[in-house]
Amino acid sequence: GAALQPADAVVDSVCPYCGVGCQLSYRVKDNKVIEAIGRDGPANQGRLCVKGRYGYDYVSSDQRLTTPLIRREGVAKDPADIGRVRRGEVPLAALFREATWDEALDLAAAGLCELRDAHANGSASPLAGFGSAKGSNEEAYLFQKLIRQGFLTNNVDHCTRLCHASSVAALLEGLGSGSVSNPVLDAQYAEVILLIGANPSSNHPVAASFIKNAVKAGATLIVADPRRAPMARFATHHLAFRPDTDVALLNALLHVIIAEGLTDPDFIAARVNGYEALKASVAECTPERMSEICGIAPEVLRDVARRYAKAKSAMIFWGMGISQHVHGTDNARCLIALAMITGQIGRPGCGLHPLRGQNNVQGASDAGLIPMMMPNYQRIALPDIREHFEALWATPLDPQPGLTVVEIIHGAYEGRIKGMFIEGENPAMSDPDLDHARAALAKLEHLIVQDIFATETALLADVILPASAHLEKWGSYTNTDRLIQLGRPALTPPGQARQDLWIIEQLARRIGLGWQYWQAADGDGQLAAEAPTARVFEEMRAVMAPLAGVPWARLRREQAVVTPAPLEGEPGHAIIFEQSFPTPSGRAQLVPASFMPGPEQPDQDFPLVLSTGRVLEHWHTGAMTRRAEVLDALSPQPLLSMHAEDAAALRLDEGQAIVIASRHGTLQALLQVSPEVRRGQVFLPFCYWEAAANVLTGSALDPAGKIPGFKVTAVRVQAL
Ligand code: SF4
Repeated sequence: GAALQPADAVVDSVCPYCGVGCQLSYRVKDNKVIEAIGRDGPANQGRLCVKGRYGYDYVSSDQRLTTPLIRREGVAKDPADIGRVRRGEVPLAALFREATWDEALDLAAAGLCELRDAHANGSASPLAGFGSAKGSNEEAYLFQKLIRQGFLTNNVDHCTRLCHASSVAALLEGLGSGSVSNPVLDAQYAEVILLIGANPSSNHPVAASFIKNAVKAGATLIVADPRRAPMARFATHHLAFRPDTDVALLNALLHVIIAEGLTDPDFIAARVNGYEALKASVAECTPERMSEICGIAPEVLRDVARRYAKAKSAMIFWGMGISQHVHGTDNARCLIALAMITGQIGRPGCGLHPLRGQNNVQGASDAGLIPMMMPNYQRIALPDIREHFEALWATPLDPQPGLTVVEIIHGAYEGRIKGMFIEGENPAMSDPDLDHARAALAKLEHLIVQDIFATETALLADVILPASAHLEKWGSYTNTDRLIQLGRPALTPPGQARQDLWIIEQLARRIGLGWQYWQAADGDGQLAAEAPTARVFEEMRAVMAPLAGVPWARLRREQAVVTPAPLEGEPGHAIIFEQSFPTPSGRAQLVPASFMPGPEQPDQDFPLVLSTGRVLEHWHTGAMTRRAEVLDALSPQPLLSMHAEDAAALRLDEGQAIVIASRHGTLQALLQVSPEVRRGQVFLPFCYWEAAANVLTGSALDPAGKIPGFKVTAVRVQAL
């Protein structure tokens, strides 16, 4: 091969994309990355997928924001500008003018203060903030602190609400902790692996490679998913059940295990509450009855139940196919029950692993970037918790849990939420019922967006603050295994872009908080500074027990520490729930669930079921990967996947331009005939602005997790 270009520096860091958390080194020349190389991290052992390996050049894109921007006077906020700017019909400069940092920060802070102070008399706050699961732990912590201490509201959330909120709700309720029980690599110790509602080949590729290795070494893989995603090729069983019938399928498994005496009675007696209620609840859920709902043959349901229950060790991995439903919490409750009644938890190769999506969605939730919890899942509604933080932060705190992502957007539409600060998230692509969500954002009196690109959301802002990319800053990130890893700066941010921690602190100071994380010796916020990051991390450590044994110096030295790590001299706990659960009784609580049809039923007008999701080459709303040259070249356009027989029945051909309509909106894409989807089902990725899939989805929510049902939308498809 060609000789390697000599590098100016080699910087050890961690991949910015998915929750696997692959460690890598960036070779850097002339303030550009020239190569990414996998390192031997605990979660990746040198492996990288195409995103980590080739997806870094977004950082050097000429579309980076390089100066603060303020909306031009008299230019109204118009959601139609999103398409106009993206298509190149309207330049960004027609909507915004350049500003100095002082001018932009003063304007941003003044507008937020005005709204806060006008509603200070005990009425519900008109302010809200969305932080980011792509930012560091320190940024997440400081962002939620700013909203709570500075805006005096708990209206702070992030995209966990759109991915695993239902899983976390069920895990907190059942096991007292929202964390995974075992790391991905424990797949190597599992005799049986149940992979349900997850497509790790695209979304967690390195995790998928370890699961495939386990299968090669003899593990039995059972895949349950309406789509025939690539992992099904490695499975003994692929249960292509009818979309949205997870509870029926899982209740059938529970029924068989109980009816055939395959439970672990000692484990149940010692560690589980609610078994009798569960048993009664699934008594009628025979495989024959449930088969009529979920479409899987009774003998297959029996076989899978027996294999899972009889295995010496069995792990369950799940993803958005379980959680993104209006009954996502019920789906996860059933998975928890499966593990509990069989004692498949608390040992190597046994457990529950909701595969976390973004690189730091675990850490952002841990840090309190959620409306009902302070850092480390301490409930704001509990007086002793609140008083503890009020004393620490010397501020009265709002005792009411805040609104969640979709509730905040509804609030904006209805005029109850008037001002928002959005850091690194893109609700104008990621939220359900997108026409409504964009209209809601456009209605805000004052919207501040802090990001590295003029995202779809930023195009509706009053003030845009140019931020730093992951490759330009210090920060810690917590992966799906609860592993905290260190990201290091490799590049200098472009133009006037500033460090995110610096920007958050500058806003805090302007709204009257005397924060001093960023001190004079740390510079003007352009270059990465380690000291302020470490100061924030040390404050987190003081209020978050699982971090107590991880001083910044240890993180720097070891680069990766699994949490909980309560003691400095000892490794953290890769496997949890070994002896007990962190519930008040120390026992798990089973919560039965009954199958209920969701609101998005197909009918004559909308006969197909759409599920949305990701593709291997792109990441979430595409803000980064659509600007990464190799990745966008590999996957450049929105394709709707459809079964060949459905395409034939509709007289549609591969590559044909089509119109997709739902009860919520309409858009255009190209048709891809795919063997991965079952008849009656179609699939569309949500990363393309050209066909923003969430225009089609509805905003009905799971009652416990408040997550929308992205996986089930009734649609019709026709030729353009
Ligand atoms: Fe990055 Fe995830 Fe790919 Fe690893 S598997 S390189 S963390 S995107």
